[in-house]
Amino acid sequence: MDVLPLLKSLGVPTGSVGKGVLRVVSPVDGSTLTSLPPASPDNVNRAVVRAQEAFLAWRMVPAPRRGELIRRFGDTLRAHKEPLARLVTLECGKILEEARGEVQEMIDICDFACGLSRQLYGLTMASERPGHRMAETWHPLGVVGVISAFNFPVAVWAWNFCLAVVCGNPVLWKPSDKTPLCALAAHALFLQAARQFEGAPADLSQVLIGGADTGKALAADARVALLSATGSTRMGRAVAPVVAARFGRSLLELGGNNAMVVTASADLDLAAQAILFSAAGTAGQRCTSLRRLLVHTSVAKKLLVRVGAAFGKVPVGNPLKSGTLVGPLIDGAAWDAMAAALARAGKAGGTVEHGGRVRVPGCSGGFYARPALVKMPAQHDVVHTETFAPILYAMTWRHFDDAIAMNNAVPQGLSSAIFTSDVREAETFLSATGSDCGIANVNIGTSGAEIGGAFGGEKETGGGREAGSDAWKNYMRRATNTVNHSRALPLAQGIRFTI
Ligand code: NAD
Repeated sequence: MDVLPLLKSLGVPTGSVGKGVLRVVSPVDGSTLTSLPPASPDNVNRAVVRAQEAFLAWRMVPAPRRGELIRRFGDTLRAHKEPLARLVTLECGKILEEARGEVQEMIDICDFACGLSRQLYGLTMASERPGHRMAETWHPLGVVGVISAFNFPVAVWAWNFCLAVVCGNPVLWKPSDKTPLCALAAHALFLQAARQFEGAPADLSQVLIGGADTGKALAADARVALLSATGSTRMGRAVAPVVAARFGRSLLELGGNNAMVVTASADLDLAAQAILFSAAGTAGQRCTSLRRLLVHTSVAKKLLVRVGAAFGKVPVGNPLKSGTLVGPLIDGAAWDAMAAALARAGKAGGTVEHGGRVRVPGCSGGFYARPALVKMPAQHDVVHTETFAPILYAMTWRHFDDAIAMNNAVPQGLSSAIFTSDVREAETFLSATGSDCGIANVNIGTSGAEIGGAFGGEKETGGGREAGSDAWKNYMRRATNTVNHSRALPLAQGIRFTI
C-alpha cells in the first residue's frame, strides 16, 4: 500500500518518512507502510525545552482566544475527516465506519473544549474573617506529556490535547509505536489550523516518535507537569511510580475488564445487539470492550444461543471494505495471546464456541479472528485478565447480589452495564452498593462512550478521568486566594498573636 499520497493529502511533511528504523506495519495485510526515525534522548530534551518556551507565551493568551484556535482545529478536522479515518483504518485496523467515529470524537472534543474555554470557573467561598474574600482561581499547569495506545490512535490524544491547550498548556505526544503515522497526521492538521492563527507559539504541539523508552523519558522528566498515559496496566505500573517519585501529576487510563449483567427482565433483543457491538466491535480491542457476560440462569440459554449465532456470522474481513464489521487484530502477538487465553479457558472447564483464525483473501499477512464465546463455570483467573482480543466469557447467576459481586470481582474497574426492565435492579447497579466501575450504564453496552461525560475507571484502570465534565481540572493548577480588604488583621480560627 502506498501511504505517501494519503500522508501528503493530510499535510504531513514527508522528508523523514521512509528514513528510519521504526517499521510501520499495517494490520490490514501485514505489509510495511513505511519506516520512521525514532526520537533520540536528545530530541526529547530539546522538545521539552521548546515546550517550556511555548508555555510561557501561551499561558498569557486569554482562554477564550485559546478556545478559538481549537475551534479552528475542529474545522480543519471536519475538512479532512475521510482521509484521516482511512489512515486510522490502515494503521490500526479498525473498520472505516469506526475510524470515522474516532475522527468525529476529535471534532466533538474540539467543540466541547471551545465552549469550555469560557467556563474555566473557580469558586468563591465565605470567609470566616470580616472584610475578607476567599476565592479559588485556575491557572495553566505547564508542559503536558501524552502517551497513547494503538487502539485509539488519534481520539485519546485529542481528548488530552484540546483540553490541555484551552487550559493554556503545550503538549508533547508520544504515540504508540504501532500507530505513529496517525500522530504525524493529526499533528499536521493542528499545525494547519495554527498557521492561520495569530499568537499560537510554534511548539504548542510536538510529536515524539518512539517506543517505551521515549515514554520513560517523558515520565522521568521533572519539567513535564502532567503525564497523561493511556495503555495497559503493565505500562501504568511502570510509569506511575516514576512520575510520583518526582511529585509530578499523572493521569492514568489503563486496562479494562468490562462486564454486562443481564437480568431476567431484560429486553434480550436490545441486549443481543449491544453484546455484538461491545464484544466483537473493534475486534475486541477497546479498553471498554465487553469481556464478561453475567446472565441470569433463566434467560442464559436463550441469550447465549443468539450471541453464539451472531458471532458465527458477523462479517470478519478487510476493514477498508464496506460490510465488514470485524477487522484484524493489531499483530501476530495479539493473535497468540487470544489463542493462549482460549486454551487456558478450555483447561479451566470453559466451552469455547468460534474464536478461530480467519483467512481473508488479499490480506494474508493480517491476523483475523472470529469472535469467541466461552461459557465458563466460574470467573477463573483467565477471566480476571484483560486479553486484548474478541473473547467473551459468559457466566450465570441466580441472585442479583451475586451478579453485582461478580461484576466487581476483577482487578480492573473501567466500564460496566446492566440490561434490565426493573428500576430497582437498575438503580441498585448505579448506586454506592452497585458497580464499582468508572462507567456504569443501563440498557446500553459497555463501549462507545460520548465525550461529554468524564471517561476513566477505578482500581487497576488507574483512576484517571478525561474528556468531559470537570476533567479539565487535571490540566490546570488551583490557587486559593484570600484577600483582606479591612483595616485589621484577624487570624483564622480566632487565634490571637500580637505583642
Ligand atoms: P501498551 O501499554 O503496550 O502501550 C501504550 C503506550 O505506552 C505506548 O505508547 C507504548 O509505547 C507506551 N509504553 C509502554 N511501556 C512503557 C513504559 N514502560 N514507559 C512509558 N511508556 C510505555 O498498550 P497498547 O497495546 O498500545 O494498548 C492496549 C492497552 O491500552 C489495553 O490494555 C487497553 O485497555 C488500554 N487502553 C486503555 C484506555 C483507557 O482509556 N482506559 C484507552 C485505550 C487503551
